[in-house]
Amino acid sequence: MARIDLDHIRHAYGAKPTRESDYALKEVHHSWNDGGAYALLGPSGCGKTTLLNIISGLLHPSEGKILFDGKDVTNLSTQERNIAQVFQFPVIYDTMTVYDNLAFPLRNRHVPEQDVARRVTEILEMTGLSDMAKRRARGLTADQKQKISLGRGLVRNDVNAILFDEPLTVIDPHMKWVLRSQLKRLHRQFGFTMVYVTHDQTEALTFADKVVVMYDGQIVQIGTPAELFERPSHTFVGYFIGSPGMNLMDAKVEGASAVVGSQSIPLAATHSIGSGKKVELGIRPEFVRLSREGMPVTISKIEDIGRQKIVRASFEGRPLAVVVPEGAEIPAEPRLQFETSAINIYADSWRVGPEG
Ligand code: ATP
Repeated sequence: MARIDLDHIRHAYGAKPTRESDYALKEVHHSWNDGGAYALLGPSGCGKTTLLNIISGLLHPSEGKILFDGKDVTNLSTQERNIAQVFQFPVIYDTMTVYDNLAFPLRNRHVPEQDVARRVTEILEMTGLSDMAKRRARGLTADQKQKISLGRGLVRNDVNAILFDEPLTVIDPHMKWVLRSQLKRLHRQFGFTMVYVTHDQTEALTFADKVVVMYDGQIVQIGTPAELFERPSHTFVGYFIGSPGMNLMDAKVEGASAVVGSQSIPLAATHSIGSGKKVELGIRPEFVRLSREGMPVTISKIEDIGRQKIVRASFEGRPLAVVVPEGAEIPAEPRLQFETSAINIYADSWRVGPEG
């Protein structure tokens, strides 16, 4: 497995990019650890597939270099990069048996037949396809075929990286959960470097140790699920991760307080913010408390989602969501408080850390 360095990579699909907006992928400059499990997460069109295809060699970047373990592979083909790929839709041989499909990548590299048998048996068990080993792939359902594709991606353990592009789209919801957990276990066991593209936050957060959040052709944050939840670097991360997403409201920061409408909210520290920036206060709905004391709030709706309630409210004329645990009392005339340590301050959408 390999460390992956993305060295000042940019990509434009058009011939002569002149403006920043001509780039489908704006500058990416990062190192991804050998043996890391990374999820590329973001909405449709943000550049996830473009970045994955640059890593796999299906696409040559307009600018920059890509290195595997320090070796420049920018001009190498997918084959020469020695990676495994699993796509959104199954790529298998219909006329071969399930077993032979799984054995193919190994036999192709002249792996001894006894090792082929051992690996294929493991993968058959992992994907729940053992009973079908001798059947031809042709008659199988779409999700059975996709499990073969997934198995083919995992069968070799000498690859530099395994790349997955929304591999569970055609799999039914229960099996999705099973396969995701198995992928995670395999990762712990074998330490593959894995890059997994998805637009589904649950999939990204359960699969990856590092989630790479993309927005509008940029990487806006690379972090653990806890970091993305507690300290979103960009307002997009706050809004995109979590359900409901982070509350964001226009604010003015004065010393160690933020002013929202007519309310002054204490902050844990002072923040240095240049002039002329759009300043916002961000707080997740889980860290807003409804009580008998605090700032005035008007409740418009309460949604009961089982273990929690989502309270939709208006605070200083701005919409605000509050997550209330099951059984917690909502006062008849509620007021609200923000947990100071959970407040984040943003200037022009980027988080500003506390001073000192
Ligand atoms: P999705 O989840 O829908 O696949 P994505 O995050 O993978 O989206 P990309 O497919 O990488 O996004 O696309 C990024 C941008 O590049 C989009 O604006 C898209 O329209 C554009 N794009 C992608 N492929 C091409 C292409 N072959 N030619 C021109 N523009 C392209």
